[in-house]
Amino acid sequence: MTTKRDYYQVLGLSRDASEQEIKKAYRRMAMKYHPDRNSDDDEAEEKFKECSEAAEVLSDQSKRSSYDQYGHAAFEGSGAGGFSGSGNFSSIFEDVFGDIFSTGRDGQRVHRGSDLKYVLDMSLEDAVRGSNPRIKIPTQVECMECLGSGAKKGSAPIDCVQCGGVGQVTTRQGFFSMQSTCPRCRGRGKVISDPCRKCQGQGRAQEEKTLAVKVPPGVDTGDRIKLSDQGEAGANGGPAGDLYVEVRVQDHPIFTREGEHLYCEVPISFVDAALGGDLEVPTLEGRVNLKIPAETQTGKLFRLRGKGVDVTQVRGGGIGDLYCRISVETPVNLTRKQKDLLKEFAGESSEKQSPKQTSWFEGVKKFVDSLTD
Ligand SMILES: [Zn+2]
Ligand SMILES: [Zn+2]
Repeated sequence: MTTKRDYYQVLGLSRDASEQEIKKAYRRMAMKYHPDRNSDDDEAEEKFKECSEAAEVLSDQSKRSSYDQYGHAAFEGSGAGGFSGSGNFSSIFEDVFGDIFSTGRDGQRVHRGSDLKYVLDMSLEDAVRGSNPRIKIPTQVECMECLGSGAKKGSAPIDCVQCGGVGQVTTRQGFFSMQSTCPRCRGRGKVISDPCRKCQGQGRAQEEKTLAVKVPPGVDTGDRIKLSDQGEAGANGGPAGDLYVEVRVQDHPIFTREGEHLYCEVPISFVDAALGGDLEVPTLEGRVNLKIPAETQTGKLFRLRGKGVDVTQVRGGGIGDLYCRISVETPVNLTRKQKDLLKEFAGESSEKQSPKQTSWFEGVKKFVDSLTD
């Protein structure tokens, strides 16, 4: 027999821990080490078993007092198996995670329906201004024929004979009696002898429902809107899950968005860039005038304050700005006359007209000279 750790130590508790503290500690550890979250991790599985075993003993008054008095010896040598650590911990697990299960009508064990996710594609304009789209979602609803019971109209589910309607069966193993989920009714406590034809005994039916969604102004890709109780219907009349509408904003031909700010690229002629002038630039509310100074370079950003996205309602922080990024366009399809004028222009030009180019050439010269030194 391998040496076992102290049960209190396993759960990180003092010897006078209350029942609440024991369950809380177990909940925390079980969430961490649950096999579903740690696939193929033997150590996690061992830890899960260890803390389940500790919680099973400490949360039961009589087992706890035996353990306090005799330690692990209380559970050893008491016949086949004893409390070997490979037992069934479903009772403590369900007790602690009881909010997942609850008891519904007719005393059946019911399950909350799943949460559903719906991806809502929308334009940038709708995301910025907010909208009220209607969405159609496939959903499991309570069967109208049997009102969710799964039994044929006029009949009702009957108590499971194996577990007497409790959903749990008790088996004696050595010193303890242990509880596990009833294999016949799979924990429901009821069996349906005459299933509803419409839903084949499921109690639920597939339907499409239309929902109105209120999308607040300022949402962005990945934002979620929760519609409570609009998810999948619960089994055996259990509560419905929630529906999460996840926003996905489509690409816009003109604007890109980063948080509350918008960006747009504005191509201008090299003449406008050199001489300066008035430009018309787009905003989400229409065109506005933008004055650009003479000698404007490619990449220069002009900020239009307050022309971005108002994110006050979705994350606070107020209204963003619109940034216009200038891109100077090299002229194409030149006429003979234009070429002549440009040649004449070049003849008039000196290093002074191209300070960036001049300092770049100087930098390159210094670098190349340093290679030959
Ligand atoms: Zn039905
Ligand atoms: Zn049963």
